[in-house]
Amino acid sequence: MSRHTAPISEVFSSLAGEGPQVGRRQLFLRTAGCHLDCSYCDTFTDPAEPCRFERLPGSGRLVEVANPLDLEAVFAMLTELEGVYPGHVHLAVTGGEPLLHAEFLLELLPRVKDELGLAVHLEYSGTLPEELRRVIDLCDVVACDIKPASLCGRDVTGVTRRSLELCVAVGVELVPKVIFGRESDFAEVEAGVRMVAGIAPDAPVILQPVHGPGGLPDLSGPELLETLIRASRLHPDVRLIPQVHKLLAVR
Ligand code: SF4
Repeated sequence: MSRHTAPISEVFSSLAGEGPQVGRRQLFLRTAGCHLDCSYCDTFTDPAEPCRFERLPGSGRLVEVANPLDLEAVFAMLTELEGVYPGHVHLAVTGGEPLLHAEFLLELLPRVKDELGLAVHLEYSGTLPEELRRVIDLCDVVACDIKPASLCGRDVTGVTRRSLELCVAVGVELVPKVIFGRESDFAEVEAGVRMVAGIAPDAPVILQPVHGPGGLPDLSGPELLETLIRASRLHPDVRLIPQVHKLLAVR
């Protein structure tokens, strides 16, 4: 009998759309709610809304389930998708901010690993290092945002630094993602790249552009290339990777 519930925004099967895992099949668990208010946020995460379960991948046909959900309900959805469409590489846990529900994840993730045989890919805002510490041993990949104050609305450098340091100390596969867009400037990209170079020099630096309402990055191709060229002078392994799921118009 599970003890915890969590507001879940979406459960679906798709492909990894961000970072070096791009293109791999993933199950997605999107929790609802976030403690931040990024200007570019495109993620529907109202905890009061029902969970949307996409039974047929890519169909857009959604079954709505009342929130909050308990572990058994969530696990049943994940089991159904992996059973009908086997071969996912990871469960991608994203949000919102999934670490607001660390207690729930501490119950769910061992079952995902043991019973479904899936690795866990955590997509994380980079701002809750104490909660990350609680679940990190259950994670195989931690994608950690490095958010500029111009987009995030506050300076989160200290907590992001602690999150990166924790990932390095534990030895989990780390994907640091420097978020940038039209509202940010290159000095913030530079600070992010230098932070990764100083704390996790073996990790690639992912430059992830903000996408506009039409699904394309809000900077032009030449502007993106200029950012990549300048950032590559600061670190030997910088990769500019847009959000591929948006380019494909899938979840
Ligand atoms: S951390 Fe993510 S979910 Fe939260 S406001 Fe920022 S972009 Fe949105």
